[in-house]
Amino acid sequence: MPLEVKPRFVVLYGSQKGQAQSIAEGIAEEAEEHGLVADLCCLNQNDKYNLEKERAPVVFVVSTTGDGEPPDNALQFVKRIKKRTLSPDHYKHLLYALLALGDTNYANFCNCGKTIERRLRELGAKQFYPTGYADDGVGLELVIDPWLKGLWNSIKDTLSKMASDRTVQLKEDSAKEIPESSLPDVQLNLLSIADKQISPKTQACSEGVPQVSLAASLTSSLPPLSESSLNVPSLPPPYLDVALQEADAVEQAVERLSKETCNEVPISKAVQLSKGDSVKTALLLELDISAFPSMTYHPGDSFDVFCPNVAEEVDHLLHRLGLQDQKNHRVQISLKHNTKKRGAQVPPHIPENVSLLFLLTWCLEIRSVPKKAFLRALVEHTSDSAQKRRLQELCSKQGAADYNLYVRDPSLSVSELLTAFPSCSPSLSLLIELLPKLQPRPYSAASSHLRHPEKLRFVFNVVEFPACSGRPTGRRGLCTGWLFDLVNPGLVFPEKAELALPKIHVSLRPSCSFRPPSDPSLPFIMIGPGTGVAPFIGFLQQREEEKKENPEAKFGETWLFFGCRYRNKDYLFREELENFVSSGTLNHLKVCFSREDRKDEEEPPSAAQPRYVQHNLLLCCRQVTDILLRQDGYIYVCGDAKNMAKDVNETLVEMIKTELQVDQLEAMKTLAGLREQKRYLQDIWA
Ligand code: FAD
Ligand code: NAP
Repeated sequence: MPLEVKPRFVVLYGSQKGQAQSIAEGIAEEAEEHGLVADLCCLNQNDKYNLEKERAPVVFVVSTTGDGEPPDNALQFVKRIKKRTLSPDHYKHLLYALLALGDTNYANFCNCGKTIERRLRELGAKQFYPTGYADDGVGLELVIDPWLKGLWNSIKDTLSKMASDRTVQLKEDSAKEIPESSLPDVQLNLLSIADKQISPKTQACSEGVPQVSLAASLTSSLPPLSESSLNVPSLPPPYLDVALQEADAVEQAVERLSKETCNEVPISKAVQLSKGDSVKTALLLELDISAFPSMTYHPGDSFDVFCPNVAEEVDHLLHRLGLQDQKNHRVQISLKHNTKKRGAQVPPHIPENVSLLFLLTWCLEIRSVPKKAFLRALVEHTSDSAQKRRLQELCSKQGAADYNLYVRDPSLSVSELLTAFPSCSPSLSLLIELLPKLQPRPYSAASSHLRHPEKLRFVFNVVEFPACSGRPTGRRGLCTGWLFDLVNPGLVFPEKAELALPKIHVSLRPSCSFRPPSDPSLPFIMIGPGTGVAPFIGFLQQREEEKKENPEAKFGETWLFFGCRYRNKDYLFREELENFVSSGTLNHLKVCFSREDRKDEEEPPSAAQPRYVQHNLLLCCRQVTDILLRQDGYIYVCGDAKNMAKDVNETLVEMIKTELQVDQLEAMKTLAGLREQKRYLQDIWA
C-alpha cells in the first residue's frame, strides 16, 4: 500500500509588526484542511528554504515599512534578489503568489511587495495567482479575505497541473523502460485532487497558469470596490461639433507638416551603438541638414522630432469610431452654440482643412494615458453594464488605487483601453475634445556644428513598455519605436553598407543656457550616464575644434562622469571618448558600470564600490568641489530626471557639506547659488 504524501507548498513571510507573519501562519495552518502541507519560513531564515531549487508553489506574504522599505526580516532577501549578476532565468522554475501589505497614507504603497514581485518576474518566475495589495489605510481585510479565499483553488490547480505534467514525463520515461516501482506515490494523491470540481471562477490562462476571476485587473475589480457606491467626477460638458465632409482637396501629412515651422531632413546615417543583448537598444541617427541653414545649432541645443501615431493604432481607432470609410474626409470642427464649457475653443493644435486620417495620425496623442475625466466621458458611450461599471470605478475616488495600478503606472494608452472595453464606442468629437496634442519629442544634439557643419547627430534608447493587464504584449515608445522601424533595415553595423534612409520632420528648439562656459579657460564637469552623454559629445567635439583653431589659447580642465550597465554592451561613444582623452580634449573620464565590476554584491554601492556616476563623483569629491567652489567652474547634468539627477543633486549637497564643513541647509544654499549663477546646469527628462 503506497504511503500517502500530501502535496506541499511553501509560505514565506517578511513582517515588521507581525501582521504578515500571522497571515502566513494562518495559511500554513489552513493548508491541512485542504489536504496540503505548507513549509512556513521567515524570509531571513534562508537556511530553511532554497528558492533556487524550489519546485513547489511559493506564497509570499510581505509588508512594507517606513518610506517603502522592506521589513527588517526581509531586508537581506530583497538585497539578494536585487543582485544585478543574477541571470534573467534565475527563477525560471519558480511559481509564486504574493500578498503585499501596505498603507496608502504613506509614500510607496506596498513597495516591498512590488519590489519582490518585479524582481521575481525579471528573474523568470511565474505568477500562479494574482497579487493582492492590501491597504491598511482602508482596512487590510478588504483585500486579504477574498485573496485568501481564492488562493486555495489556485494552489491546488497549480499542484495538480505540475503533477500531471510530471505524470506525462514519467509516462514518457517509463516508455523508455524505467521500472514501474520508481513511480512516486504522490502521483495518486495529486490525481485525486485534480478530480475535484474546479471552481467555475477559475479559468486557465494562455500559459496554463490558473487565473482567478476574483482577482482585480484592468477590466474587473474586487470587493469592496466592486460593491462600493462611487463618487465619480462630473461629466465634462461636450463643446465641439464635428462634421466630416467628402473633399478632394484635403492636405495629407507631408505637405501639411512641411508648412509648419519644421524641416523635412534626410537621415544620412543610422548606427546601433548598443551591442549584443544590451538591456536597451541605443541608436545614433545622423541628419543631413545641409539644405537648411536655419538648422545651425550649438552644443547643448536640442531639437524636436515630429512623429506620427502608429498606422495600425490609427486604423484600429477608425474602426472603433466606425469611420474607416471616411478617413479621407475633411474634418470640420466648430464650437457648440450652447456649450457650458468655460473658455471653449476649437483645439489650436488641429489645423483647418485636414483629413480625418491626418488628424488621428499627426494631431492627437492617441497613446496618451486616459485622464479620469476622459474615463468618465467614456462611461456614457459604453453599452455593456459591467464595462460601464468598471470605467466608473476607474475614474471614481474609491477606485483611485486601481486607476494608478492599471492605467497610470503602466502608461496604458487610450487605444489599449478601448481594446479592453469592447463595448465602448466614443464619438470623434469626444476624442478631439479630450485627447491632448501629439507632441514632438525633443532630442539633444550629440555633435558639434564645427566638426560636422552639415550634419546633426542624436542618440536615443528605444523605450520599451512591458505587457500588463490591458496590454497583452509589450510595445515601444512612440517616437523611438517609430525611428527604430524607419531605419531598422538600413542600420549600419560597422561592417554593413549603408542603405537609403528616409526623411523626418524636425525643428530646432529655442536656444538654451545649457552651453559650455563662454570663457574656455574655466574648468567644467559633465555628468551624463546612458544617453545623457549626448550633449557632452557635442561639447567635446566643439572643444577639440576650438583647440585646433586656437592652439595657444588657455583651456580649462574637462571632466566627464559617464555610467552604463556593461563595458561591452552599452558603453556609448567609447572609442570617441577615449580619443578625446588621448587628444587631451577630455582630461578626466570617469566611467562606472552598474551591473559589473562590483566586488561585493551584498554591500551597498558607495565611493568604494561605485555603481553610478554619483559614486564616482564622491571618489573625486576634493577635485570636483574645488572646481565648483574655488575655480569658478561649471557642472552640467544630463539625462534621467526621476532618479539620476535627484541622486546626483543629493550627492553634490553631501560633497559640499563635507568640503566646506557646513550643515545640510548651508550646503543646499551653496548649490542653489551655483544654480543661480548658471554654473550648475541641468538638461534632464523624466
Ligand atoms: P513615449 O511613447 O512618449 O513614452 C515615454 C513616456 O512613457 C515617458 O513619459 C516615460 O516616463 C514613460 N515610460 C517609459 N517607459 C515606460 C514603461 N516601461 N512603463 C511605463 N511608462 C514608461 N531622449 C533620448 O533618448 N535622447 C536624447 O538626447 C534626449 N534629449 C532630450 C532633450 C530634452 C530637452 C527633453 C525634454 C527630452 C529628451 N529626451 C531624450 C527624451 C525624449 O524626448 C523622449 O521622451 C524619449 O525618447 C521617449 O520618447 P517616445 O516617444 O519613444 O516614448
Ligand atoms: P539608462 O540606459 O537607463 O541608464 C544609464 C545608466 O544609469 C545605467 O547604468 C543605469 O544603471 C544608471 N542609473 C540608474 N539609476 C540611476 C541613478 N539613480 N543614478 C545614477 N545612475 C543611474 O539611461 P538612458 O535611457 O540612456 O537615459 C535616461 C533618460 O534620460 C531617458 O528617459 C532619456 O529620454 C533621457 N535623456 C534626456 C536628455 C535631456 O533631457 N537632454 C538627453 C538624453 C537622454 P542600472 O540600470 O543598472 O540601474
